[in-house]
Amino acid sequence: MDMTESINNLKKDLYINGQWMTTTDYKDVINPTTNEVIAQVAQASKEQVEDAIQAAHDAFKHWKSLELKERTTYLHKIADLLEENADRLAEIMTVEQGKPIKEARLEVISGAESFRWNAEEARRLYGETIPAPNNHKYEVAYEPIGVVGAITPWNFPSGMITRKLAPALAAGNTVVLKPSGDTPLSALAIFELFEQAELPKGVANIVMGSSKDIGEAFTTSKLVKKITFTGSTPIGKTLYAQSADTLKKMSLELGGHAPFIVNDDADITAAVEGLMAAKFRNNGQVCIAPNRIFVHESVKETFLAQLKEKVEALKVGNGLEVDTNVGPLIREDAIDKIKKQIVNATDKGATLITGGHRLTGDIYDNGFFFQPTILDNVNTTMDIFYEETFGPVVPIITFTTLEEAISMANDSEYGLASYAFAKDGKAINTLATNLEYGMVGINAVAISNPETPFGGVKQSGFGRENSHLGIKEYVTAKFINTKFL
Ligand code: NAP
Repeated sequence: MDMTESINNLKKDLYINGQWMTTTDYKDVINPTTNEVIAQVAQASKEQVEDAIQAAHDAFKHWKSLELKERTTYLHKIADLLEENADRLAEIMTVEQGKPIKEARLEVISGAESFRWNAEEARRLYGETIPAPNNHKYEVAYEPIGVVGAITPWNFPSGMITRKLAPALAAGNTVVLKPSGDTPLSALAIFELFEQAELPKGVANIVMGSSKDIGEAFTTSKLVKKITFTGSTPIGKTLYAQSADTLKKMSLELGGHAPFIVNDDADITAAVEGLMAAKFRNNGQVCIAPNRIFVHESVKETFLAQLKEKVEALKVGNGLEVDTNVGPLIREDAIDKIKKQIVNATDKGATLITGGHRLTGDIYDNGFFFQPTILDNVNTTMDIFYEETFGPVVPIITFTTLEEAISMANDSEYGLASYAFAKDGKAINTLATNLEYGMVGINAVAISNPETPFGGVKQSGFGRENSHLGIKEYVTAKFINTKFL
């Protein structure tokens, strides 16, 4: 089946109560590599969003009461289907989002791992027995919350969905998902697999449409008991404020502006390799992408020379071609934001080492392609020091003492991921202890795994995904005091 066929064959409607529902309004989905319309997807009416919430509410009682083995069998079946369909889902993702096909495939596979991990974690949602007065038994049981409203971004069109839906469903909740309007096709492909897995009707529902209307419907609904959101900090705050009246449980995975510190004793080759992997994954459109690179003055020249060579060797192009390292950006306004940050920085004294411009000619003329860029001599007067970048720009800041580097690294409203390369044990301990971030990678950049907690502090939000903590975001602790008469 060629690509056009698999997108044409994909369902484009809403999936509510186990049925694909048409609407009167359909919205274009754009391929950022070609700027062409590749599909049109249903936009839900307000009534349809309410129907989806009601369906999830009605399905909750049955789903939470299923024998655990039966519930987790569905999750393992979904994991199997994700693995079996990984190539097709990866292609759909690359066409609607632009990332290289290898990255897209890994993302689908990590979704399968999420389903397997959480199916197993559901079996380990142990309660507690607490020492109690005579003739009493004190117990704590973890129970599902009810209907979960999930809202996800475009940068990981599949992974952000699977890492929410897997723990939510495993714990016995039901879900209504609103994926990003830019990348609904990967979400629809996952829901087709839910249908194939014969997930009971109403357990998982998908609505697309006006994000403002759907956000309001989720946050103000008395039936929705939890909101799980990944996206920008301003929208996270809006949803938090809107949820005050109904006092919903919330998980907010928001923006990031990760520091990456290269100490004077760092293994420079390893640091450059780590930076390339973390920075250019998904073209820098990652909440945990290193965005401020602090390099000790004594190693800067060597570091910069190695980095420049690697950055200039990156192949920017169509993500469907296997040798592409970096695809397009998601939209035209993403290019505008990056250009603005670069102009602001160079006006204030930053030096352009390589890149800095939109790519033109051949396939570049249609899509949203930008040169991988290095900026040196960046400082705190520049917007790029404080604003999330979300693109292929590496800003270098020089430091003299580790204390100075840590202090500058912490000078951010965000607190999601941080990285440091160093060898000295004391320096490593100082970094791990003092970086005010939810995640710290020391001589390592792989900080997102099913087993390990993912999440931020400060304006990067709260709550954790993955790990044994992830599923706890979708349960409530019930205390039971029994007196034996
Ligand atoms: P966004 O604009 O905040 O959108 C995220 C989601 O929220 C999309 O589904 C969007 O729908 C929806 N949305 C927009 N306005 C809304 C409203 N008023 N009410 C309810 N929902 C609304 O963010 P994005 O541009 O898609 O994603 C990039 C951001 O996500 C970055 O800041 C990045 O750091 C963050 N992110 C964080 C993590 C993490 O784990 N911490 C992971 C990935 C990304 P539409 O697209 O349909 O408008």
